[in-house]
Amino acid sequence: MESVITMTSNQSRTSAIQTIITRAPKEVVQPAPLSKIWACDVFNLAAMEESLSKNAYKAMKKTMQTGAALDPINAEVVAAAMKEWAMSKGAKFFSHIFYPMTNLTAEKHDGFIITNSDGNAITDFSGSLLIKGEPDGSSFPNGSLRATNSARGYTAWDPTSPAYIMNTANGATLMIPSVFLSWTGESLDKKIPLLRSNAAMNAAGQKVLALMGETEIAPLNSSCGAEQEYFLIDAAFAAARPDLLQCGRSLFGAPSPKGQQFDDHYFGAIPERVQVFMQDFEDKLYKLGIPAKTHHNEVAPGQFEIAPYYEAANVAADHQQLLMTVMKNTAQAHGFMCLLHEKPFAGVNGSGKHVNWSVGNATQGNMLDPGSTPEENLNFLLFCGAVIRGVHLFGPLLRAVIASASNDHRLGANEAPPAILSVYLGDQLEKVFKDIQAGAFPKTEKGGFMELGLSQLLKFERDPGDRNRTSPFAFTGNRFEFRAVGSSQSVSGPLVAMNTMLADSLEWIAVELAAALATGKDKSAAVMSVLKVVMDKHGNVVYGGNGYSPVWHKMAVEERGLKNLPTSAEALPELLSPAVVSLFERTGVLTPVELQSRFDVYAEQYVISIELEVKLMLEMATTLIYPAAISYLSSLSATYNSLAALSIAVDSSLASAVAIEASAMMAAVGKLKAAIAQHDFDTIQAHMTFLAHDVRSLMSEVRAHADALETMVADDIWPLPKYREMLFIK
Ligand code: ADP
Ligand code: MG
Repeated sequence: MESVITMTSNQSRTSAIQTIITRAPKEVVQPAPLSKIWACDVFNLAAMEESLSKNAYKAMKKTMQTGAALDPINAEVVAAAMKEWAMSKGAKFFSHIFYPMTNLTAEKHDGFIITNSDGNAITDFSGSLLIKGEPDGSSFPNGSLRATNSARGYTAWDPTSPAYIMNTANGATLMIPSVFLSWTGESLDKKIPLLRSNAAMNAAGQKVLALMGETEIAPLNSSCGAEQEYFLIDAAFAAARPDLLQCGRSLFGAPSPKGQQFDDHYFGAIPERVQVFMQDFEDKLYKLGIPAKTHHNEVAPGQFEIAPYYEAANVAADHQQLLMTVMKNTAQAHGFMCLLHEKPFAGVNGSGKHVNWSVGNATQGNMLDPGSTPEENLNFLLFCGAVIRGVHLFGPLLRAVIASASNDHRLGANEAPPAILSVYLGDQLEKVFKDIQAGAFPKTEKGGFMELGLSQLLKFERDPGDRNRTSPFAFTGNRFEFRAVGSSQSVSGPLVAMNTMLADSLEWIAVELAAALATGKDKSAAVMSVLKVVMDKHGNVVYGGNGYSPVWHKMAVEERGLKNLPTSAEALPELLSPAVVSLFERTGVLTPVELQSRFDVYAEQYVISIELEVKLMLEMATTLIYPAAISYLSSLSATYNSLAALSIAVDSSLASAVAIEASAMMAAVGKLKAAIAQHDFDTIQAHMTFLAHDVRSLMSEVRAHADALETMVADDIWPLPKYREMLFIK
């Protein structure tokens, strides 16, 4: 009897707990003050001003701030200065860093070193090396774009996103943010469309502002501040969970008796080990010029959030990728595994990435800032109206750009934004737009003052609208917040979709506004007439109620004509809808071929992610969970026999229940195995649909039996760290 238990008793789970409870927080050297470390590893304008000639500096500044082209002579000067600067920081290597269509980041490192004719090593870095690199294009997913025998791909320097030094245990490397394109000139990455979408939005916005009588109009740029949610789990637990290691989420796990029902984690005191991690992590971000601003606990136990201050969208997108990398690496150094998966633990809140987005320029400011009297701020009303129109026309696109196998676990569940795209404006602004639609002159209601009834506390002005946490797309005072984006995703896709739909709406507004003005209407009347049309046609997308309620889901679809796209299988094909293909083509953001390649890559990733999970699930059920159940049964039966020999009566109902669950689990395993072997699908859409519905429900079946076993099998032989341990022991 004894020997059976020791045979399967899991060393790694119990030793993990031992390791963890004796861990001390990693010691962190007290960092230098912010002013000393801020952006010290970034070749930003300040560093350039010190090292470039006046002319080259002026040219670079213009490029960085307005996107104007940089001439080759100045590029040469910048390359030389960049190399000197990087070498002074200890860098021997440089790398173009680029963003392929996966959500990951790719690098190809090259030495500064070359040898001269005397065999001496010298360092070299020319303008042409800065501008162009040549990684193997076929090693990255490219959808139908490239045959593998025509693999040439290029990376090209993006001077509008600053280069920086990445310090790792292997030394320092100069990292150069770059685009990635094929030999035939198609975008293979996430940066080119973002830059193009910004340009399209600027071009259209300029037209509208010019019609509004603005004379000096600086280039418009989009901005992004991304709130990143994540989980931290002790690395020793993670090492004992093959599912966390391979899939980033737990495929099994019975709920912890204590979950998040006490609401005691959100904004609660941050555990010391985590605080130490955060401080170390944020210092690293500061050195890289990433303005980490807030951090706090999130709703679920073990869940946290970090939000940097917002920046130009292109830079913010690069920084967001870098932040995820630095976060994972720093967590590892502190004995944690950082989980960016959207739903690492079933039954516990998932993680999102709220993408805060606005557009503005140096002359007119933030176009989405209403000021204190939004009803009089015509530019604001037009841009806001443009967003409403965009979300209504291209809601399915917004849904498609956040579709992934992992985000499917989160969207539509009752703790995350629904899979139906609507816009929340807040009471004040919703009333303004409703008034405009009714043809009344809009009036706003002020929030008034917060009366606290405590004379020692200062009064403060109440915000004009409350917040709505159930909306996937909410106006939050001076920006829109796209809340349905997944925690592991690149922000580029959402930003591209938002910029492009805005570009399209602004183009439309420019035409309508010009026509209205041509009839002799004054500016205000012309704007109101255009916005009335926007509201008549698209006001259906504005919704201020509870986005989680089933009543809304029914009303949205049946009465408002909005689409409910519950999984990626329904959402991703929206990328190929005629409306979306035409949108990207006419705005010049993606050609139909580039768009098709994106669909191909994302659909393929969807399929392989689920197939990987299924393979692992089958293996874990068969080699970890079933053996634990069986060895428990055999130890029970040995015990029962010994007791029977002593004529002690035993109740064998537990053994029966374990036996029933174990064979039910294996029966479900058999069905899942058969399902995943099926490969005869006419289209990838059909394959995705099968995985999203049939396969996923079989996975739930296997899991339900396994989780039931977890609550019955003796704790000391259960092989996997449990939710109650992983989420709470730090
Ligand atoms: P909350 O959790 O209340 O939504 P946070 O302060 O955590 O707010 O995050 C808000 C994010 O929005 C931050 O990254 C912030 O810099 C960003 N943000 C603020 N103003 C703008 C703006 N005009 N455009 C884009 N992002 C913005
Ligand atoms: Mg937020």
